[in-house]
Amino acid sequence: MNVLVINCGSSSLKYQVIDSESEQVLAKGICERIGIDGRLVYQPKDGEKELTNAPMPTHTEAVRMVLDALVNPKTGVLKSLQEIDAVGHRLVHGGEKFSSSVLIDEDVILAVEACSDLAPLHNPANLIGVRACQEVLKGVPMVGVFDTAFHQTMPQKAYLYGVPYSYYEKYGVRKYGFHGTSHSYVSKRAAEILNKPYESLKTIVCHLGNGASVCAVENGKSIDTSMGLSPLEGLIMGTRSGDIDPSAVEFMAKKENLDLDGILNVLNKESGVYGISGLSSDFRDLDSASQEGDERAKAARDMFCYRTAKYIGSYAAAMNGADVICFTAGVGENDGGVRKDVCSYLGFLGVKLDEEANKKRGEEVILSTPDSKVTVMLVPTNEELAICREAVAIINQ
Ligand code: ADP
Repeated sequence: MNVLVINCGSSSLKYQVIDSESEQVLAKGICERIGIDGRLVYQPKDGEKELTNAPMPTHTEAVRMVLDALVNPKTGVLKSLQEIDAVGHRLVHGGEKFSSSVLIDEDVILAVEACSDLAPLHNPANLIGVRACQEVLKGVPMVGVFDTAFHQTMPQKAYLYGVPYSYYEKYGVRKYGFHGTSHSYVSKRAAEILNKPYESLKTIVCHLGNGASVCAVENGKSIDTSMGLSPLEGLIMGTRSGDIDPSAVEFMAKKENLDLDGILNVLNKESGVYGISGLSSDFRDLDSASQEGDERAKAARDMFCYRTAKYIGSYAAAMNGADVICFTAGVGENDGGVRKDVCSYLGFLGVKLDEEANKKRGEEVILSTPDSKVTVMLVPTNEELAICREAVAIINQ
């Protein structure tokens, strides 16, 4: 089965075509600047990356351009569009309604729309991608895979906030968590690599990318995670503040003369390691700057690692121990320095890092020594493959 995996944002659309039997990526790329001018990046499996600038007033034109590239007689990877058997859509917020992936129909679209006030930036954009594909790929089954679904197993004591219960009842104010597709994929993959039963492992997954979250997976189920009602809670991220005293929000807004939207924009886009360093949200820049003696870049890295370690510690407490700690996503897969600093706090758990193994990047590898009480691993995430597998599973149901 060939699955077109779509991750649609407000002005971009990332795509991959995956052959579900071989799990090979046949082609991948991104449409950028949709609604502005339009740029298609297309990379076939065995070919060169191509860039095409062409007008893309809406996502429908973007999807059309992707499909044209896929069936292009010279560089395409499909003979015809009939070779696309399913589309898997990344959908960000499924609220409490969706605890697993679903076949998309009108009812599902309405239910995702109903969750839009919880994710006003993401859900409408995701749905635009769904509608565009429906228009261009009539009759092809589409599956929605939610970032929040994996965390729907959290117990109430983990997901409720300490605010009036009626807010939960009336408005759904609670922790939902994100990166669920990644946390699920990585924790399962770790169990496979270790040849241990997923259903009896205590795993802590650190998804450290530009957005970052930690998840406690006990016996194959998410029991807690650091992101909340929105992706702003938890770790210090590339540009997001993570946890902060709500009173500080009001205090800063008053001092800076900002309204609610203004201060939330600061917390989402001008904070995190970018805001602290005043330099960059990219850990490669922070690493080189701190090596050159930039104190704020160093402080940003230190704060990021400290907060990550605190979450790991709290999840070890929540699960009464941990068997496995996984690092994944851009920073987790590539920055051995961050992994080392995080693990330096975890001696109390019996974590011993193998410094030689920790030099590896972007591959599946055990990072701890054989006598470490907790197995520390690097497991590259693959959300597109996870979405492809979900789509196949739902269609074959
Ligand atoms: P997202 O999907 O949230 O945009 P990614 O998981 O792709 O984020 O991570 C992107 C981040 O990974 C970059 O901002 C950068 O900080 C970090 N990163 C990527 N490559 C490296 C590297 N070689 N060394 C250190 N950090 C890296």
